[in-house]
Amino acid sequence: MNHFIEEGEAYILKTYNRFPVVLDHGEGVCLYDTDGKEYLDFGAGIAVFALGYGNKPYNDALKTQIDKLIHTSNLYYNVPSIEAAKKIVEASKMKKVFFTNSGTEAIEGALKVARKYGYRKDPNKEYEFIAMNQSFHGRSQGALSVTGNEKYQEGFVPKEFRAVFAEFNNLEDVASKITDRTCGIICEVVQGEGGIYPADPEFLKGLRKLCDEKDLLLIFDEIQCGMGRCGSMFAHDLYGVKPDVLTLAKALGCGVPVGAFVVGEKADGILVPGDHGTTYGGNPLAGAAVNAVFEQFESLDLVSHVQEIGSYLWEKLEGLKEEFDFITAHRGKGLMQGLEFSPEKPVGEIVTKALSNGLILISAGNNVLRFVPPLVIENEHVDLMAERLRASF
Ligand SMILES: *Cc1c(COP(=O)(O)O)cnc(C)c1O
Repeated sequence: MNHFIEEGEAYILKTYNRFPVVLDHGEGVCLYDTDGKEYLDFGAGIAVFALGYGNKPYNDALKTQIDKLIHTSNLYYNVPSIEAAKKIVEASKMKKVFFTNSGTEAIEGALKVARKYGYRKDPNKEYEFIAMNQSFHGRSQGALSVTGNEKYQEGFVPKEFRAVFAEFNNLEDVASKITDRTCGIICEVVQGEGGIYPADPEFLKGLRKLCDEKDLLLIFDEIQCGMGRCGSMFAHDLYGVKPDVLTLAKALGCGVPVGAFVVGEKADGILVPGDHGTTYGGNPLAGAAVNAVFEQFESLDLVSHVQEIGSYLWEKLEGLKEEFDFITAHRGKGLMQGLEFSPEKPVGEIVTKALSNGLILISAGNNVLRFVPPLVIENEHVDLMAERLRASF
C-alpha cells in the first residue's frame, strides 16, 4: 500500500472511508495520483472545481492576492470581498451578502436570520423550521437539525432541536406542517446528496406563496446546485422563484473555502451589528477567489456552456439508461445529473470499478450515481466518461 495512505490513517481522524487513491495534481478536467495515474474527474471535488484544474487567470489572481494580503479580520474593510459581494448581489438580484468559510456555516447564518425574523415578531415563541426529507445542509448541529437524514442526526441532534420534516415536492405536506411556531422553510432547489432530485416548479412556487401568506422566510440552499451548475447562474432562476435567503458555497470559490448567505429585501436588516460574526469569513484571499470565479464565468460564458454540455450529457446518460435495464431512473439539470440503479447493482461497486478505470464519480442518496463534473468539460470528455463507465458495469 502507498505509504501516504498508511500515514493518513495514522494521523487523520477517521470519519471517512476513503478510496485508496492519493491525489497529487490536476490539469484541465483530469486529476493525477502520486503514481501518475490519470483520472477523468466527474466529481469536481463534490461539485466544487467548476473551472477545472490549472485555470491560469484564477490561479494568477490567487497568487497575486497572496502576495498582497491574505487576511484582515472583519473589523476592517477589504476591497476583494467588497467587490465579491457586489458581484453576488448583482448576479442574484438580492440585497446583502455575509461571507462564511463553508456551506455549513452559510446554512447556520441563514437559520439565524430566520430565527431572528420570528423573534422580532414575538420574542416569547420558540421557533422551528420546516425542512425536507432526504435533504442535506451540512454537519454542524444547526445544519444537521434541518438535514432530513436520521442516520446523520442520530446521536448528535436531540429530537426537540430537529426541524419538522416534510416530503420534498409535496406542497400539501409542507402546508399542513406550518404552525404559529414556524419561522422559515428551507430546501435545496435540486437535492444533491439526497439523490439528485430537482424541485417541481409548482412546489417552489407554492413554497413562495406559503411563505408570503404566513410571513415566513424562504431559504434556498444552492450550495451544490448554484453557481451555474444547473444551466443558470442560480438554480432558482430556472423557476422564476426568489428566496428570502440564499446559501452558496462549493463552486463559489472553486476550492478556496468560501461560502455565503445572501439576503433579499424581506430578510435585509434582520441581523444587526453584534448578531453574527466570523474571523476568516470574506477575507481578501476568499474575496479574490470569488472575483476570479465570476470573471471566469463571464469570459468563458460558462452558463451557456453548461446548457450545451448539459444536454449532451443528458442524451448520453439517456442512452445508457435505455441500454442497461439496471438503470432505473435519470434525473437532474445542467451538469448536475444522476442515474439511479436497481438494488442488485450497488453503485458503490461501480464507483470503485470506475476509479480503477480512471474515472472519478460519486454516489448520492439511495443507489444513485452522481455526475457533477467541472463546468468546463467538453463533449469529448462526456464520451470518454461514458466509455469508462460502461466498462465499469
Ligand atoms: C455540501 C453541501 C452543504 C455543506 O457544505 P460544506 O461546505 O461541506 O459545509 C450544504 N448544503 C448542500 C446542498 C451541500 O451540497
